[in-house]
Amino acid sequence: MGRLLVVANWKMNRLPSETGPFLRQLLEQIPPMQHVSVVVCPPFPSLAIAAPFLEKSSIQLGAQNMFWERDGAFTGEVSPAMLRDLYATHVILGHSERRSIFGETLPLIALKVQAALANGLVPILCVGESAKERDDGRQFWVVEQQLITALENIATDQARRLVVAYEPVWAIGTGKTATPALAQEMHGHIRSLLQRLFGDAVARHIRILYGGSVKAANAMDLFQQPDIDGGLVGGASLDANEFSSIVAHARSCA
Ligand code: PEP
Repeated sequence: MGRLLVVANWKMNRLPSETGPFLRQLLEQIPPMQHVSVVVCPPFPSLAIAAPFLEKSSIQLGAQNMFWERDGAFTGEVSPAMLRDLYATHVILGHSERRSIFGETLPLIALKVQAALANGLVPILCVGESAKERDDGRQFWVVEQQLITALENIATDQARRLVVAYEPVWAIGTGKTATPALAQEMHGHIRSLLQRLFGDAVARHIRILYGGSVKAANAMDLFQQPDIDGGLVGGASLDANEFSSIVAHARSCA
């Protein structure tokens, strides 16, 4: 496992037919690395297409969401077992777009985190405050509540496999990146909360990613912060040159 983790969140972008050529380009630009892990999360219809491209590579496959049940009458949903069957290793959970557009609640996200861990997937749990919550000075409290609720019933030995992504909502897709100091302040806070919940050794092991307008120009300053263990990259992950430069910056910080 690399020390730093860089995750591409394609969101609802790229057609299945565009997936193979794009991944081929990425694989040419991103060499296998010892200290940096890379995960690409395409939309559901492209997972089966991406799997054979990534199978023998050092880039891992992730999904952007999933349901918590194994199978059954859940029209429109995708199970953890289905993701595993496609060789996905990671799943983004509780992204702010899922919470704000699709009404996902924290107790529901908690069920997804439990299901991901129970099925051998690494959950990338997204947390982060809105602009209003930060203006009101409630950002630490909000992020703490999100983590405490989503991590309810997670045993310490399972928590080791968890990834947390701090994504301030005001920085997602807006071009407004948190300053490295502001991001570090929240990452430090998240690390202390994880220490309280799971103990020091596990808290140090859990990777805390920063997400919110990460690009090649700001990646290095962010990844140099002591509690920033990589990035969750949206818009910039759709450009192979930009994304591979972000990964290269991670490599020089690892
Ligand atoms: C995201 O979707 O998780 C994200 C951080 O998006 P962007 O990088 O475009 O702000």
